[in-house]
Amino acid sequence: MSDVKWRYVFTLKCPTCGKSPLYIAKSSFNFSKFMDMHDNCSACKEDFAVEPGFYQGAMYISYILSCALCLSLLPIYVIFNNSRDAFLDNALYYLFGCFAMLLLTAPYLTRLSRAIWLTLHIRFLKNKDY
Ligand SMILES: [Zn+2]
Repeated sequence: MSDVKWRYVFTLKCPTCGKSPLYIAKSSFNFSKFMDMHDNCSACKEDFAVEPGFYQGAMYISYILSCALCLSLLPIYVIFNNSRDAFLDNALYYLFGCFAMLLLTAPYLTRLSRAIWLTLHIRFLKNKDY
């Protein structure tokens, strides 16, 4: 885990060299093609299109990130609703806050999940013999 360059992951660059972007569109909010990826790295030729359906596994990463994001809102909610009745009465505000935050971050989280999935594959599974 120590040789993972998290700067490359969070900036959505090639996990191996960090020079080439993973995605064709620079913005996560270019909704027509925010998921389009390059087939390989232009600098080191690392393969980004590993196999058909490879990125389906990234949904597990996306789920973990989404849950972490919602749980990060929980302490803020608890601070403003410190009694049990207030906590339960205002639960819809918490859910709405989670929904709004996930809606705003979904494009980047989806891309980030793919970048993490690809990084895990390259760093830990690629050169193993099974
Ligand atoms: Zn590269």
